[in-house]
Amino acid sequence: MLNKLVFLSALSVVALSGAAQAATFNPGTYTAVSKGNGGEVPVTVTFTKNAIESVKIGANKETPGIGSIAIEKLPKAIVDSQSLALNGVSGASITSHAILAAVAACVKQAGGNVDELSKAKAQKAVVKNETLNADIAVVGAGAAGQTATIRASQLGKKVILIEKMPFTGGAAAVNGGTVVIQGSKIQKEAGVKDDSPAIMTEDYIKNGHNL
Ligand SMILES: Cc1cc2nc3c(=O)[nH]c(=O)nc-3n(C[C@H](O)[C@H](O)[C@H](O)COP(=O)(O)OP(=O)(O)OC[C@H]3O[C@@H](n4cnc5c(N)ncnc54)[C@H](O)[C@@H]3O)c2cc1C
Repeated sequence: MLNKLVFLSALSVVALSGAAQAATFNPGTYTAVSKGNGGEVPVTVTFTKNAIESVKIGANKETPGIGSIAIEKLPKAIVDSQSLALNGVSGASITSHAILAAVAACVKQAGGNVDELSKAKAQKAVVKNETLNADIAVVGAGAAGQTATIRASQLGKKVILIEKMPFTGGAAAVNGGTVVIQGSKIQKEAGVKDDSPAIMTEDYIKNGHNL
């Protein structure tokens, strides 16, 4: 059902074009390590005389599905834009920052001008504006937003689901992989009598250290 709906991800690596002009480097391959969310993020950068030729990220423990998105997107964005003036990937700020910091360290080693590469000169973000019409716009593609979107769609409404992160699922994308629904039909069918929504509420409050 969801693939029939319009899904917008409001994120992204926004490349600011034209930041680096006539940069010069001592050609070669340089490495640097920066601290990410899950530990060290090793980065290897190869320079020609006037360009950042490649950016490669080594073994790391960044969160799959979150930090890994920055690892997938940022190296290409740096090479494509020949710039360090890039926005991080939404939800993966720490990993994004680690990559940019390590690449900056490599630029320094190669005799490049980090300040110049970090300047957002031609601040023309590569963002596409589009006007969409719908009966309902749902903000947030977590479990609640997805459920609302699917149900409204089943009822014949045209729905737009908007998510700010680079992935859908919200907390359900990182949770324990189970769904607790006390008082559900499934519990009743299984003959469960010692559980209830009130008990779940108590459990959750206790779980959250009464906060
Ligand atoms: C670590 C962890 C473990 C858990 N374990 C379990 C478990 O084992 N079993 C269980 O049943 N529950 C568990 N939970 C709870 C459960 O995952 C959540 O209650 C449920 O997923 C919440 O769904 P939601 O749609 O209400 O909110 P969320 O999942 O928080 O969704 C909200 C969405 O809205 C997006 N959003 C917010 N603001 C904007 C904006 N301005 N524009 C666009 N998008 C926006 C967010 O990015 C997010 O995707 C766990 C939660 C966590 C964090």
